[in-house]
Amino acid sequence: MIIGAIEAGGTKFVCGIGSENGEILDRVSFPTEKPEETTERAAEYFEGKNIEALGVGSFGPLDLDPQSDTYGHVTTTPKPGWSHYDLLGHLKKKLNVPAGFDTDVNAAAFGEARWGAARGLDSCVYYTVGTGIGVGVYVGGRRVHGLVHPEGGHVPMRRHPDDTFAGACPYHGDCLEGMAAGPAIAKRWGQGSDSLPEDHPAWEIEAHYLAEAVTGAILLLSPKKIILGGGVMHQSQLFPLIRSKVARNLNGYVASAVLDDMDRYIVPPALGDNAGLAGSLALGIEAAQG
Ligand code: ZN
Repeated sequence: MIIGAIEAGGTKFVCGIGSENGEILDRVSFPTEKPEETTERAAEYFEGKNIEALGVGSFGPLDLDPQSDTYGHVTTTPKPGWSHYDLLGHLKKKLNVPAGFDTDVNAAAFGEARWGAARGLDSCVYYTVGTGIGVGVYVGGRRVHGLVHPEGGHVPMRRHPDDTFAGACPYHGDCLEGMAAGPAIAKRWGQGSDSLPEDHPAWEIEAHYLAEAVTGAILLLSPKKIILGGGVMHQSQLFPLIRSKVARNLNGYVASAVLDDMDRYIVPPALGDNAGLAGSLALGIEAAQG
């Protein structure tokens, strides 16, 4: 069985095909341009590949309510041309196969639960920290949706005592994304995260905000694994900083032996930068199984 997968990001689309055991057999990526051109290019990729189903993990916000008239649409994104675009509908029309649909980060959490760092567990929370911050939530063996879907990149947090940066989120200023996404780091320090040395004070502040968010997720959702991915998390010196700050925040309050081993609890994605595409593949497999 060949399944198609699309990781539909705000800056690039990754398309691939894979098998039902999660093996990715082929992939391409191209920049996200106007919606019609981009979906056309994706559809062309799948031509002749005989996919039986498709999984799409997309940037959002999205309408994920199957009962809604606008199910499968990207909703209020500021990305030009994409607001209220029927992404899933256009792809289904072109490819005519069953399709699964979720946020890119819910897909990544799902992929990690199936084949990655949370394999065998019925819950995990997945963060991507890059040009934005997104949070995928998988609890009780299900991807979490609700009113819409989790928007954990925009939670408010306690401010770092030495941080006077106003924040860069156009909606909230100093929410998590506004303080800790790549553009916030670049704006605060006048240089991108790639060029900041490992011992720069930026990382202590970055770890503070991510630890605040992760602490909240642990207290609210009680996940069995926290997975931190995305470009900023390639700075692996962040992991020990975040782990120790989370432990300090929790202060022994949450009674689980799992939290005694933070090195195994707060981890990078086992699927690496493939988490999103693998998760989209998992959505496609689910759709194929009806
Ligand atoms: Zn925000």
